[in-house]
Formats: sequence, C-alpha cells, structure tokens
Amino acid sequence: SFDEIYLKANIRAVHNWPKEGVTFRDITPLLQQPKPFRMVIDALTQRYINHEIDRIAAIDSRGFLIGSVLAYNLNKPLILVRKKDKLPPPVISESYNLEYGAATVEIQQGSCKEGDKVLIIDDIIATGGTMMAASTLLKSQGAEVFEAAALIDLPDLNGSTLLQNIGIGVYSLCAFE
Ligand code: IMP
Repeated sequence: SFDEIYLKANIRAVHNWPKEGVTFRDITPLLQQPKPFRMVIDALTQRYINHEIDRIAAIDSRGFLIGSVLAYNLNKPLILVRKKDKLPPPVISESYNLEYGAATVEIQQGSCKEGDKVLIIDDIIATGGTMMAASTLLKSQGAEVFEAAALIDLPDLNGSTLLQNIGIGVYSLCAFE
C-alpha cells in the first residue's frame, strides 16, 4: 500500500513564502530522489492503468513533471495547460480569480476531442481554481474530466470539496491540514 508518511517526509514546508502567513509546499526534495519520485509515479500509474483514459492534461509547471511521466507510462497523449501567452496560437483561454488578482490558463485548440476522457494532473490542489479552469477549458472542447489528481491536497482551502461539489472527482496522494 502507498506510504503517505514517506511521501510527506519528502515534501518541504517553506513558512511565510511567497508571502507572510502562507506555508508553501515544496516538492523539490521528492524530485531530487528517485525512490519517492518513483513511488509517486508508480502509485498514479497503478491507479489509472486499467481505466479508459484518453488523454492526460498536465498543469504548468510542476504538473508537467508528473503528468509527462504518467503520460509516457500510460502511453497516452499529453495536453499542456499553460499559463497565459506561453502556447502558440490558436489557443483557448480561461481566467479565474486568485486571492489577489486573477490568472489565466490556456490549452491549444484541437488538443482534445469531443468525448475524450481526460485526467488532469497537478502537484497541488489549493483553492481548486486552477483545476476548475483547466476543467472548463477541456469541457469547452467537448471532453470529459475523468478525475483531477494531485500529489498534495490542502483541504483547509476547500478546493477538493469545491471540485467534488461540481461533479469533478478528486484524487490526491497526501494532504497537509
Ligand atoms: P489553486 O488554484 O488555488 O488550487 O492552486 C493550485 C496551483 O497553485 C497549482 O498549480 C500549484 O502548483 C500552485 N500552488 C498552490 N499552493 C502551492 C504550494 O503550497 N506549493 C506549490 N504550489 C502551490
């Protein structure tokens, strides 16, 4: 079974960064060591290998690190959900509110097809805004979200609950309260 304690021991807490009162969860230690990184990728691969998933959508930029390896393992096409102005046109955009200000994510037009079941991958679910925007983009192309998966859930920020309440299944390998 999956060793959540070992995973959490390989995620660094950075207090009061990027601003006062915030604890940033840093997955760098995980990436620097093959053992916990492989454990994470193997767990996600096992979870999804026997499901009918058509594509993997990975979120800029730490989601790319996990999503691309998973897409390779599962032998599925990879969709990049990028921050604004990174992808060449034609793109479709979705903006969402952050605590202060707003953010925009984009996918390339034609990156998924009507009826595709798409697994969305990121490192962390915080407020759920990023996953929600990614989901809106995919659905606008006629795709379905298979599940929103992340290494880490921050349940105090209610993102995973919010996503589940609008019918998006959520999976995370660990949580920090
Ligand atoms: P959300 O949209 O509020 O759910 O925030 C999720 C996005 O912000 C993800 O793309 C994460 O990479 C990033 N993020 C939020 N909190 C953290 C953190 O503590 N560590 C690393 N990334 C974070």
